[in-house]
Amino acid sequence: MQVKGSLDTFVAENDLVQISALQHAMFCERQYALIHIERLWEENRFTAEGRALHERVHTDHRESRRSFLQEYDMSVRSLKFGLIGKCDLVEIWRDTKSHKPMRINPVEFKRGRKKENDVDRVQICAQVLCIEEMFNLTIETAEFYYLQEHRRTVANIDETLRAKTIALIDRIRTINENKKTPIANYEKKRCDPCSLIDLCMPKYTTKSVRRYMQNQIKAGLTSLCESC
Ligand code: SF4
Repeated sequence: MQVKGSLDTFVAENDLVQISALQHAMFCERQYALIHIERLWEENRFTAEGRALHERVHTDHRESRRSFLQEYDMSVRSLKFGLIGKCDLVEIWRDTKSHKPMRINPVEFKRGRKKENDVDRVQICAQVLCIEEMFNLTIETAEFYYLQEHRRTVANIDETLRAKTIALIDRIRTINENKKTPIANYEKKRCDPCSLIDLCMPKYTTKSVRRYMQNQIKAGLTSLCESC
């Protein structure tokens, strides 16, 4: 296992990005801003099922042997990448004499099935970045357990995924600095299952609908003036 070199830059504790925020920002930047800047939250069936699954996982059994350890709900942090969060499960293979970690495998539990996009993969990559920094080693793969598939799936933590994750962390910092909630862009497939749809009102805040509303108001004012 490769050992990483020492860190040269650090992010202040106050600027740490929640690992869970990466998923939100990748899914929709407006959703990220509503949750993490405007502090809005609304639960729906999908978020409730996800929360229940994680609660079940975190009360699951723990296994600890001389050479192998399973840590559920483990807190992780990276000051190099400015990340903080929790891992559902971290499996650690240890040297029996020194107890030093020799191999680490993060496992993330998800409702549903494997996704085509990278929403889940950037989350586990962010966990890997934290664990690598904490234990000073390199992790090349991690795993998902998708409830509907009833089996583990391996995720390669390659350079492309790492670059994508780091770029997303930077993008989140930019949104945080601007403190501006991005305008909604309604997409049926993405917005209809979104738990924030009633708070977000994407159909009424897209540019075209806004233009439509402005025209309606202008037309109303004109007819008012004409009848005055
Ligand atoms: S409803 Fe659509 S635009 Fe609004 S936060 Fe959800 S996904 Fe984003």
